[in-house]
Amino acid sequence: MNRRNNSKGKVCLTVDLEFLNQKSLSESKTKAESFDLDQDEIVENLLSLLDETDSKVTFFVVASLVEENPGLVERISDKGHEIASHALTHKNLREMTKEEMRDEIGESKRILEEKINEEVLGFRAPGLKILGDKVFYQLLDEFNYKYSSSKIPSLPIPGWYGDLSIPMKPFRISEFYDFEVDNRIFEVPVSVNPFLRLPFSGNWLRLLGHNYFYWSLDKLIEKDIIPVFYIHPWELMDLSAVSNLPIRNKIRSGTWLFNKIRKVCERYEIDSVRNILDINKNKD
Ligand SMILES: [Zn+2]
Repeated sequence: MNRRNNSKGKVCLTVDLEFLNQKSLSESKTKAESFDLDQDEIVENLLSLLDETDSKVTFFVVASLVEENPGLVERISDKGHEIASHALTHKNLREMTKEEMRDEIGESKRILEEKINEEVLGFRAPGLKILGDKVFYQLLDEFNYKYSSSKIPSLPIPGWYGDLSIPMKPFRISEFYDFEVDNRIFEVPVSVNPFLRLPFSGNWLRLLGHNYFYWSLDKLIEKDIIPVFYIHPWELMDLSAVSNLPIRNKIRSGTWLFNKIRKVCERYEIDSVRNILDINKNKD
């Protein structure tokens, strides 16, 4: 049986690879510093699952991880997955000066490219938080990125993200904003449920459950939109016993989510951002 002939459509899975003790575990007041869980094993399990289901994904990697764990990014890249940047330190770009932001965007690309020997095309802002579209996209342009995946066309979630004016499909920055920027740069928005306009990635997937998740995917595909969603490797670990985490980070972490990801890889054709944008083909 050829799975691809039976697939329910194409879906873009992205994996935000960051330290467990980073602020990524949301804006929790208590940073999960007592964490001593090993992400390597779970990333290896995920890579095996992706292999088994013939899936290619995009890993948005916090570049300072490369120093901590030199082999990991190479192993992911060797499997044929796309490596993109999730900044240098995973700090909130909204709280940075332009120079600090330049460093996060430029240095992360340099470090990742040196490691994998391949061009890094994409950038995702930590927490999907950026301040000032013009400054942000012009910096991506300066460092020759081809896309960002840092926006989400959801209802505004106060303190987080969300902007209903953003298209639900990838769009050219130069056609949407009125500032000067290379016309080849795209924004690839993280998808939302097209009716409720709520996200279905990460915490949302675990909190709202699988019916909501598949309903979101199928309705987007019906509308001819390739769903783009993200998970974090730490969500694939059982966090129920970790005391200093908010409940939203713990609920259905571990096996429940891992099984959902297996199902989605079996049911749909999973591809990376660079492939759905067809960037390699359009290379000049
Ligand atoms: Zn992140």
